[in-house]
Amino acid sequence: MAKMIAARLHKYGGPLHLDEVERPEPRPGEVRIRVAACNIVPNLKNVLSDYWQDLFPHLLRPKLPAIFGLDAAGTVDTVGEGVFAFQPGMRVYVNPARGCGDCRHCRNGEYLYCPRGIFQGYFSRTPEGVALFDFYPTGGLGEYLIAPADALVSLPDNVSFEAGARFGYIGTGYGALVKARMRPGETVVVNGIGGTLGLGAAISALAMGATKVFGTGRNQSLLDRVKAVDPDRIEVLAVGGDTRIGDWVRGLTAGYGADLVVDALPPGAPASAWMEAADAVRVGGTHVDIGAVNEPLTFPGYWIKARNATIIGSRWFTAAEGQEMAEMAGAGTLDLSIFDHHRFALADVNNALAALHGEVRGFDNFVVMP
Ligand SMILES: [Zn+2]
Repeated sequence: MAKMIAARLHKYGGPLHLDEVERPEPRPGEVRIRVAACNIVPNLKNVLSDYWQDLFPHLLRPKLPAIFGLDAAGTVDTVGEGVFAFQPGMRVYVNPARGCGDCRHCRNGEYLYCPRGIFQGYFSRTPEGVALFDFYPTGGLGEYLIAPADALVSLPDNVSFEAGARFGYIGTGYGALVKARMRPGETVVVNGIGGTLGLGAAISALAMGATKVFGTGRNQSLLDRVKAVDPDRIEVLAVGGDTRIGDWVRGLTAGYGADLVVDALPPGAPASAWMEAADAVRVGGTHVDIGAVNEPLTFPGYWIKARNATIIGSRWFTAAEGQEMAEMAGAGTLDLSIFDHHRFALADVNNALAALHGEVRGFDNFVVMP
């Protein structure tokens, strides 16, 4: 039986171990990928910790030992029976969202709504979903992983594996703009633009033809760097001063406000920061939340009616949306050149995790390269 090396967790709160395990074989409809890069973000440290279930009791993890790793890119190594669009040698990103396949949502292609939905290599959203880890036990922190062919995104040659492994966090922003029915020529506020999700939303909005992206943040030097991504179309505001976000945006949009507001604030951000940015949405505009503010929001309900606003949430994105991103990156309209890649060998995975701390910014892209 062929073997592979994978970083496995044996105990929550403990280190990852490099183990020799059986190399997985694809079943019909599945593909084996030789992993080239797997993105890691600070939240992975929480997922691997012994305090995760205290933070998120409903987000359950696989049985140990387990191979983690959410966002992987690599080369198709071999394909199972009944796979048509992918062949060995193709470069791909692997969307980690899995569904059961036969619930009413999955039958509609909406794996993200599946009551047994999991993120392969990460966690399950429900107790019922944990069983799916038995079918998809390989995360991205190993030499090979197995994924259904319909989870793959074909990467153009000009998208590196490092950038491809970042698709998950860019795709969350892109998927939100699609769901919010963004149109070319519109203006978009990104609340928390310097973070991983915020920056992904910003470059997606630029790629989709936004005329202005209004970004907020707290760190002026980080905001300056964001502005430099597209000085003509990005405006930035350091919050906490005298200028309110809504007044600032209306002042730059002939009094109208922004067509869309994307909230990408991190966990721990106050509800007041969410509400201040929401006030920037124009009459008839849309607010879409992709962030993690967990304080209760308090504003008059009639505000939604008076603003004639649509308020929606959006989580993750589909493989088809990922393919749209790949096509835009291939054409050069989605700019993936902005990231600072920090590369680590698989043997160095524990050091890579240790290097993820509070100073990690949206421009930082930490990848483990098995
Ligand atoms: Zn399902």
